[in-house]
Amino acid sequence: MTVRVRIAPSPTGNLHIGTARTAVFNWLFARHHGGKFILRIEDTDQERSRPEYTENILTGLRWLGLDWDEGPFFQTQRLQLYKDGVQKLLDRGLAYRCYTMPEELDALRESQKARNEAPRYDNRHRNLTPEQQAAFQAEGRSFVIRFKIDDSREIVWKDLVRGNMVWRGSDLGGDMVIARATETGIGQPLYNFAVVIDDMDMQITHVIRGEDHIANTAKQILLYEAFEGNVPKFSHTPLILNMKGRKLSKRDGVTSIFDFQKMGFTAEALANYMSLLGWSPVDSTQEIFTLTDAAKQFSFERVNKAGAKFDWAKLDWLNSQYIHSQPVDQLTDFLVPLWSDAGYNFDSGRERPWLEKLVALIAPSLTRLTDAVAMSQLFFTDGVEFSEEATTQLKQEGVSSALERILTALESDADDFNPQGIIKQVVKEQGIKKGLIMRSLRAGLTGEMHGPDLMESWQILHDISLDKTRLKAAIALAS
Ligand code: GLU
Repeated sequence: MTVRVRIAPSPTGNLHIGTARTAVFNWLFARHHGGKFILRIEDTDQERSRPEYTENILTGLRWLGLDWDEGPFFQTQRLQLYKDGVQKLLDRGLAYRCYTMPEELDALRESQKARNEAPRYDNRHRNLTPEQQAAFQAEGRSFVIRFKIDDSREIVWKDLVRGNMVWRGSDLGGDMVIARATETGIGQPLYNFAVVIDDMDMQITHVIRGEDHIANTAKQILLYEAFEGNVPKFSHTPLILNMKGRKLSKRDGVTSIFDFQKMGFTAEALANYMSLLGWSPVDSTQEIFTLTDAAKQFSFERVNKAGAKFDWAKLDWLNSQYIHSQPVDQLTDFLVPLWSDAGYNFDSGRERPWLEKLVALIAPSLTRLTDAVAMSQLFFTDGVEFSEEATTQLKQEGVSSALERILTALESDADDFNPQGIIKQVVKEQGIKKGLIMRSLRAGLTGEMHGPDLMESWQILHDISLDKTRLKAAIALAS
C-alpha cells in the first residue's frame, strides 16, 4: 500500500501556524513512507474563500519546503462529484430532504435548552411521505439534504495518536446536513461530506489533522460506511498552545506563517521548530535537524496527546543556530532586502564584498534576521549619535588628543591602513593606556560602548571612509 496523505486548508485566511504544523506532520509521514503528499484547497465556502488566501497558503507551504506531489485540487472544481455522491445516498434511502425552516430549528434548540438538553436535530423530516414533501415544496420552502445517523451506533476507531476512540451516534447531533439545495436541485456540499468524497476519490490512506476535528471523524466514518469506502487511518495531532496553556490564537500576535517571516525567522528554523511541536525524535536531545532528517525517523508513536506549548525562546534559539550556520553569501541575500526595506542606501562603496564583510561581523550576534537592521544601522549612516556612556568615555582626560593622533595617522597613511600599528604608536607616544584607547575608539567610531568586534568594525568603517568622519565628530565632542 502506498501511503497517501493530504493537507486540506480552507482559503478563508492566511496560512496559519496550526495548518502549517499539520502540513509538516503530513509531509514527514509521507516522506518517511515514500508516499504521496497531496494538496487540496477546500474552498466551498464561497463567501469567505479568497484567491489571495490560496496564494498565501501555496507560497507559505513552498517557503517552508513542504513540496506536494499532487494538486492543488480545488473543491469548487469538483462540485459534480459531490452532487453525484449526494444523489447516491438519496437513491439508497440513506439521506433525505429536510424542509425544516431556520425559525423551527431555533425553536427546537430553545426548547432543548430549556430542558437542559444538548442541542440536536430531532430527525423530524426523516420519514416524510412524498405528499408531505410536495406540500412543503408547494409552500416554497427550501431544503437541505440530511444523512441519517443511527443514534444507537457506536463508532470506533484506533487513532494513531490517541489510541482507541469511541463515539456514540447519539452524540452527533441528529441526522447531519451534507448539502444545501438550490432551486434546481442539490447545491453546495458541506465540509464533512466533501471531505469524505475527496478522501475516497484521492485514495487517502491516512488522515492527519488537528484534534479539533475528532467529532468530525466520527461523522465521516459513518459516511465512508454508507459509501462502502475504505476507511482511512486517523491521526489527530495535539493543538498548539500558548505559554498560558490556551490555544494559540491571533491574540498571541501570530496569524500567518509570514508573520514569522516578517519577525525574522528563517523557514528552516520554523519548519524544524514546528516538527517539534508535539513530536520528538528518538534521541530527544537532538533538536536541530532538517525536515528530511526528521522524516527518516518520523512516526506517530512519538507524537504526544497533550497540547504542544509554543515556546518563543526555543524558536529564537533554534533560529539563531540556523543563522549562525548560514554561509555568509546566503545570509547576505536574506539581509539585503531587510536593509533596503529599512531605507538603507548601498552607495559610497557599500557593495557586495563590503556587505559580506559586514554580515560576517554581525552574524554571530543575530537571533532573528531582523536584528540586523538596528545592529548595522551605524554602518549605513554617516553620522552617529553618541550614547551618554560613549560621551562620558570620550570626555575622559587624554582621549581627545589620542583620537587626534589616530586621525592624523589615518590621513597621512591613507594607503596603508594599519590599525594595530597606529594604536601601538599612540600608546607609546602619549603614554596612554591601550584599554582607554580601545574603549574610546569604540565610543568614537560606533557611538556605543558595546558591539561587535572593534577592530573588524573599524576596518569595515574604514573601507567606506567613515572612520575619519566619525573620529572628527568624536574629537569635537571630546574637546
Ligand atoms: N478544511 C479543513 C480545515 O482547514 C480540513 C480538515 C481536514 O483535514 O479534514 O480545517
